[in-house]
Amino acid sequence: MIKTNPTEFLDVSFLSYVRERQKTTDVHMENGIPDYAYASDYIIRQKIKAIPGVYPFFKAVTSQIVPMMKQQTNMEALKVGPNQFPEIYEMTADCAKRLGIGIPTVFIQPNLGEFNAYSIAFDDEAPAIVLYSSIVERLTPDELKTVIGHECGHIHNNHGIFTTAASIILGTAIGAIPLSQQLIQLISTPLRLMFTAWSRAAEVTCDRAGIICANNRNDAVTSMGKMMSGAVLTQNAVNIEAVLKQYDALRATPVRLLELEFDHPATVRRIFAQQEFMNSEVLYQWRPEWKEPNRTLVNKQELDARCEKFISVLDSKKGRPKKEWN
Ligand SMILES: [Zn+2]
Repeated sequence: MIKTNPTEFLDVSFLSYVRERQKTTDVHMENGIPDYAYASDYIIRQKIKAIPGVYPFFKAVTSQIVPMMKQQTNMEALKVGPNQFPEIYEMTADCAKRLGIGIPTVFIQPNLGEFNAYSIAFDDEAPAIVLYSSIVERLTPDELKTVIGHECGHIHNNHGIFTTAASIILGTAIGAIPLSQQLIQLISTPLRLMFTAWSRAAEVTCDRAGIICANNRNDAVTSMGKMMSGAVLTQNAVNIEAVLKQYDALRATPVRLLELEFDHPATVRRIFAQQEFMNSEVLYQWRPEWKEPNRTLVNKQELDARCEKFISVLDSKKGRPKKEWN
């Protein structure tokens, strides 16, 4: 009798591992766009791309800026790895695996005054995520994971060139970018508002990625509440129900159009959009283990239409929406 090793016939090659992983993540891609991406995010990107010269210009600018940003970050911030903040490395690896992207390099930037995180990404460069130390210090590990998941979302959705363009246009670019003042003056108001509208839509997409990567469904919402206060003094001061009442004041003021110039939606709008996502089919395609038998779910189209009502500065619903989610 010839004895054979049962593992001999198992295909354990790296290539087949990659192929298998590709298959699981491909299920969530439609024409190269992740299935959870907020419609306005890619629609506005297409509109900007259709304007002659704009996209190639910012692509060229980004290719110059990204290596500089990475160099500057490497000089000023602490690099996370298996032996340096290993728990943050682990959660990043987990988010990357969930979304099907390579593990980005994470840096912790010393800044206790501001609550912020951002990603540095460009087609040809290995992506990086920067977390301000305030976030690492004041969020629970579960909440921090949703922030990392959000940043992985920017990488997963190829936001890099547009994010850099928006940060130059709004003057929020990190670090010294040569010529940025002259660049800003060349940008017309309609184009600037297109970029800010895109940036707000992109945040909705990535908040969804943050939920998909979370350990618990509600972690992203509580971390968002803490972002609003900076989570100083006490970790448990945020009452989400009370925060949501701030939505009423957003539309009730004659200066509400001020928000058009902002690159992030008002946080309370984001929380409503997150709540909508938790009632959508898309989330449970990623996280079937969270599915509840009696929960009524909306499809992707309905989800985006509902989010539009909260996110659109010009057309958003008056008054606080009725609580339709749990
Ligand atoms: Zn973001």
